[in-house]
Amino acid sequence: MVTVFVALGANLQQPQQQIMQAAQALATLAEGDSFKLSPCYRSVPMGDVEQPDYVNAVACFDTSLPPLELLDALQAIENNQGRVRILHWGPRTLDLDLLLYGQQHIKLPRLTVPHYGMKLRSFVLVPLFDIAPKLILPCGTALTDLVTQSLRDELQLLSPQ
Ligand code: ATP
Ligand code: MG
Ligand code: MG
Repeated sequence: MVTVFVALGANLQQPQQQIMQAAQALATLAEGDSFKLSPCYRSVPMGDVEQPDYVNAVACFDTSLPPLELLDALQAIENNQGRVRILHWGPRTLDLDLLLYGQQHIKLPRLTVPHYGMKLRSFVLVPLFDIAPKLILPCGTALTDLVTQSLRDELQLLSPQ
């Protein structure tokens, strides 16, 4: 059994509801009552594609699924919520990225963990800090050393729905 962290993002079709629906689906992958979800934040899209703002959150849970089976489960949830891949970093009903799989480093054609972008993304680091303030990343960096006020200022905290 390992503790995993998953980033959730959505910017189409009632994004905050998409996040809550995805959280319910993710909770079915969790062992016992280990499932936790951060608050939701609004963020400005990355990249040059004109698109609505995102809603983001991070989930944490214990699972006995091996890494690729977990990725399959995440992609099944994305597909179930109507994810269509057209543009890189384009709008989507749901994106589920595996941030951390325990303290493991994984490099497979379909799966790189830790997620390559996590240390640079405010919409990952801030909600991750909300649910795991004492987390030490597999590279040895303490999460608290990455979460600055300027990162927080990039996000808007949303009320629960
Ligand atoms: P980004 O990864 O920069 O956030 P994205 O989430 O929009 O971009 P996707 O289209 O969701 O990218 O995923 C592209 C591919 O990335 C997936 O098909 C998957 O196999 C691969 N992938 C590699 N590592 C991971 C990971 N840690 N979590 C999720 N997908 C991953
Ligand atoms: Mg992503
Ligand atoms: Mg993704």
